[in-house]
Amino acid sequence: MNGVAEAARKLESLRLKGAAANLGPIIERAQSGSLTYQAFLDELVDSEIKDRSERRLRRNLAMAHFPVKKRLEDFDFGRVKGISKRAVDELAECDWIDRHENLLFFGPPGLGKTHLAIALGYEAVNKGFRVCYERMTNLVKILSRADISRSAQFRLSRLTKSDLVIIDEIGYTPIERNEANLFFTFVSDLYERTSIVVTSNKGFDSWAELLGDEVMTTALLDRLIHHAKIFSLSGESYRISSRKEE
Ligand code: ADP
Ligand code: MG
Repeated sequence: MNGVAEAARKLESLRLKGAAANLGPIIERAQSGSLTYQAFLDELVDSEIKDRSERRLRRNLAMAHFPVKKRLEDFDFGRVKGISKRAVDELAECDWIDRHENLLFFGPPGLGKTHLAIALGYEAVNKGFRVCYERMTNLVKILSRADISRSAQFRLSRLTKSDLVIIDEIGYTPIERNEANLFFTFVSDLYERTSIVVTSNKGFDSWAELLGDEVMTTALLDRLIHHAKIFSLSGESYRISSRKEE
């Protein structure tokens, strides 16, 4: 084994994969005299840093479990009332995630609630945040199976370690009393620690019926709303109006 391959192997054993992969060409340039000792070391360390941040980004994207790709660029703000391009551009900066604030999107189906939630989720991943997307129905399954299923337990641990949790479609299907309790505990655990994005087709006034307990619903909403921006969308369903145009 030649010296470079041996050194690369040692770097790998120290888990410096990026440096190991880039060592060959960087050494070549150093040997040809175009790099000082200092520049050689800089380049090697930079290659490791770059590789790590790329791998982290890929991992965070995979862990987000986005069901589809949605982009803010593709969102037509002319079609929906209750949110402005300017407000969303500001949200795309993700400062609200640093402040552990929540976003709540309300409105009837087809107004782009899921689109906006996912597109903002992508922005957050690209800024290095850990993001998890779940539909409410699946989140409830995870919460109630965490005790008995390894995969549910794994997902729950990722959810609680995230910087941003997107809970999509609250209110489409009613949930059981004990599921509502688990959901309340989950939101309480995240409170002031993790940002939450919620989408719902039901207004606050219907949540108690949905969750089956008025006192708990009040406490839940209290936590969700405390540091939150609320958007009530209205307009014509994008699905229906784009069908008409066709
Ligand atoms: P909701 O979650 O409010 O029911 P969705 O986000 O699922 O609505 O939107 C339904 C479909 O219409 C999606 O494919 C979404 O990308 C698209 N869509 C909705 N609103 C807009 C919009 N204002 N501009 C562009 N696409 C939109
Ligand atoms: Mg939706």
